[in-house]
Amino acid sequence: MLRFQAHCHASALRNLLSYSTVTKVEKPLEKVYYTKLFINNEWHNAVSGKTFPTVDPSTGTIITQVAEADKADVDLAVETAKRAFKLGSPWRCMDASQRGQLLSRLADLIERDRVYLASLETLDNGKPFSTSYNMDVGETIKVYRYFAGFADKWHGKTIPMDGNYFCYTRHEPVGVCGQIIPWNFPLVMQSWKLAPALATGNTVVMKVAEQTPLSALYIASLIKEAGFPPGVVNILTGYGPTAGAAITRHMDVDKVAFTGSTRVGRLIQQASGESNLKRVTLELGGKSPCIVLEDADLDQAVKQCHEALFFNMGQCCSAGSRTYVAESIYNEFLERTVEKAKARRVGDPFHLETEHGPQIDQKHFNNILDHIQSGKKEGAKLMCGGERYGDEGFFIKPTVFADVQDNMRIAKEEIFGPVQSVFKFRKIEEVIERANNSKYGLAAGIFTRDLDKAMQFTQALQVGSVWVNTYNIVGCQTPFGGYKESGNGRELGEDGLKAYTEVKCVRIKIPQKNS
Ligand code: NAP
Ligand code: MG
Repeated sequence: MLRFQAHCHASALRNLLSYSTVTKVEKPLEKVYYTKLFINNEWHNAVSGKTFPTVDPSTGTIITQVAEADKADVDLAVETAKRAFKLGSPWRCMDASQRGQLLSRLADLIERDRVYLASLETLDNGKPFSTSYNMDVGETIKVYRYFAGFADKWHGKTIPMDGNYFCYTRHEPVGVCGQIIPWNFPLVMQSWKLAPALATGNTVVMKVAEQTPLSALYIASLIKEAGFPPGVVNILTGYGPTAGAAITRHMDVDKVAFTGSTRVGRLIQQASGESNLKRVTLELGGKSPCIVLEDADLDQAVKQCHEALFFNMGQCCSAGSRTYVAESIYNEFLERTVEKAKARRVGDPFHLETEHGPQIDQKHFNNILDHIQSGKKEGAKLMCGGERYGDEGFFIKPTVFADVQDNMRIAKEEIFGPVQSVFKFRKIEEVIERANNSKYGLAAGIFTRDLDKAMQFTQALQVGSVWVNTYNIVGCQTPFGGYKESGNGRELGEDGLKAYTEVKCVRIKIPQKNS
């Protein structure tokens, strides 16, 4: 019945969207169906009975209360996931191709409820509906489909080892995977973690971010509908230092995959060392440079550097948050960049024309304004923005600082907000050194029409992703992750499967006639 309502709601919205006169989508406020913990394909209150509120960042008002998981709930979920992983269980006996089919079915169900999921994401996170619909839900569907195809194709090798042996490797699932995700791309981050883990036959206990629990719980309902056996996927809502930490310290969790801040990434690695040395992969923060050379297509460079930073209200791990511009074109670039930032359409995320919504919550909003203050105090030139937008919710005007110096706080720290810092450079060797002079190494963008120079940069930069004349293009087929303190391991693409399998090597003696 509930499913039917959700589906109707989606169809109604989809019909509405087909009329060009429609400028705004309705908030799905009274249609939030799932607020409890998803364990063993059932909905549970927290053992403690506690709940916490999730907030609409465009107004600051509470949407609903959600169950607050703690250690006792993590223990239950891990026990369930461990049972589902036991040899002989329905999940362990399932053909790999069947696992792929379940993932494909999940993708189909997400597609069926695409409008509803996009509106739930916008309500809970604040990102513009058009982005939720096109990018977030669109990418999520692709990720599940991509890894569905891999389920029966991620295989080992036969190896011609010395001696008379038949030697082969098997790619076996790691076991119970703890997965902890952030709030900036709730559906996408969930898919990056769940899809490869399930394609390779693991079971999962996932803790989603406290700011954005709703879309993940709706996906849980679709996981059940798709036909995944009970206990294979368990989704918990709750806080990091309690539920999150319990996952990282649990002796029966075999692997933790984490996306979030570098600060918490360190805690996760420590917890592994202090418990059972569970495998750890980390996708952490960044302070990524965008470098614009003298010969760049200026229009394109301005546009791309703008989107590189302001996309998702600057709340993007790979945000191009250090814009380095060649001295000879600096003034013109800056003028056009400021114009572009001023023209960015800020407002109600449910309005279809809106490009820029609120920041995620009050705490983050305060933190960004504090960085802006520090930029002003340390002598960077504020060209536009720098203050809140409107009088409700957590909106901040798109902000541009000019003449930023490498030693300023806004040049070194990840702001994770709509604050573009523009720097000037003279020589190529100089800007390469400055770009690499960061504890982070997630991504970089180069803007030039000179192929030799582009190659020089792509080789010299210590980052996991380099974009040339474009930015933030990530496909489910391409590996993503960081150098240095931006993390370890890769997600997506074939490389993304490595973290979810152990390689077992089998060596069988071949009997000889005379032995
Ligand atoms: P965060 O504070 O590190 O939180 C991320 C997740 O970790 C949340 O679910 C959080 O729970 C949980 N957590 C917090 N403390 C924990 C602990 N002691 N043990 C276990 N889990 C814990 O990061 P955020 O502020 O949500 O997200 C922004 C950061 O994530 C930025 O630094 C950004 O660069 C990074 N990020 C990186 C990528 C990437 O792919 N590299 C992608 C997106 C974001 P709560 O819900 O209670 O906070
Ligand atoms: Mg929220």
